Amino acid sequence: MPTFEEARKIILDSVVSLGVEKVEILSAVGRVLAEDISAPWDMPLWDNTAMDGYALHAADCPETVTLKLAGFLPAGDHMTAEVERGTAVKIMTGAPIPPGADAIVPYEETEEKDDHVCIKVAVKPGDHIRFKGEDVKTGEMVLPAGTLLRPSEISMLASFGKVFVPVHRRVRVAILSTGDELLEPGEALVPGKIINSNSLALAAAVKQAGGIPVMLGIARDNRESLREKLIEGLMADVLITSAGVSAGDCDYVRDVLSELMVIQAFWKVDIKPGRPTAFGLRDGKPVFSLPGNPVSSLLTFEEFVRPALLKMMGHPRVLRPMVKATLKEGIRKKTGRVNFIRVAVEQENGEFFVKSAGKQDTGFLKTLLLADGIAVIPVGQGDLKAGDRVDVHLLN
Ligand code: AMP
Ligand code: MG
Repeated sequence: MPTFEEARKIILDSVVSLGVEKVEILSAVGRVLAEDISAPWDMPLWDNTAMDGYALHAADCPETVTLKLAGFLPAGDHMTAEVERGTAVKIMTGAPIPPGADAIVPYEETEEKDDHVCIKVAVKPGDHIRFKGEDVKTGEMVLPAGTLLRPSEISMLASFGKVFVPVHRRVRVAILSTGDELLEPGEALVPGKIINSNSLALAAAVKQAGGIPVMLGIARDNRESLREKLIEGLMADVLITSAGVSAGDCDYVRDVLSELMVIQAFWKVDIKPGRPTAFGLRDGKPVFSLPGNPVSSLLTFEEFVRPALLKMMGHPRVLRPMVKATLKEGIRKKTGRVNFIRVAVEQENGEFFVKSAGKQDTGFLKTLLLADGIAVIPVGQGDLKAGDRVDVHLLN
């Protein structure tokens, strides 16, 4: 049985990034750039004013002086005539510096009267000018392949005039719930049956990770039903199943996967919850068999599937930020397995503090609602007391 770290390494070592596609720029946000992007031109494009004010010759203004007004230059316009010595051109933020002028004096330091302006400060060449290429130079490689595209990267790409952007493809993830007890949301409840919440929970998690869920519905606890659905699921980039993977009498998922040539890399991991998790590959295509308990399936998705999906979509960082936090209260823990404790995280004076988000039984979904972190407690660790330090994956 692999340890938690070994299991995650097996998974991450066996997945590779998907192909590349060009998408319309706004669809690229949250995705990962697949090619290096260099600046096609200087930014700013030309010298321009950083302030509303007056363009003039700095040498005319060693101290308070009055200059003749020689024009008005709003943003969007430009001037070809030289600004003559002893004159000033009124200019709006972003407008190109007119020829001859070498400084800007902001409104706040002037007083305009009739067709003259009084400059009330000493001026130096370059004052309040944003120079051509000062931000980015033509040919400068500012966005390397592998960059996560946030609004700031979109801003840069837009200012380069990009309409389409090369990004890693979104992963298509087939999601199959298994179990004779399952009804779909909306169906009438009957004794013995429960609602299939895992399919939607996992689909939501896939979406949040940037993937595309492919809903396969429910397979019943028999080989024929499983076979039909699993064949369909193997057409996606990734297949996730939930339940039917323990050692129960009706747990056929692993058997049928193996009949379908999915080579099992591991079954059972030294973790709690999520011990029955299995992972396999069919011609390099990853197949995750997650346990059926709603909490276990979401936690194993979080710790195993999400990093794999992110790697497949080219993300440079696939793990959530891990922080050290101080326990506010004791937590019971047996040695022997890594425990994922759902915790509520607080920050006080820049330090993280955590306490259990509720009952840690995998049957209790409510605990996950209150959790904003997963404390990852090592195998050898026993009971923890208030004040102990733990590693926490921040979820939000
Ligand atoms: P299993 O792994 O098949 O033994 O299922 C473990 C537990 O998870 C059982 O209590 C199941 O009823 C429950 N379960 C299985 N699949 C789902 C599902 N899709 N949605 C919600 N609960 C489920
Ligand atoms: Mg079952």
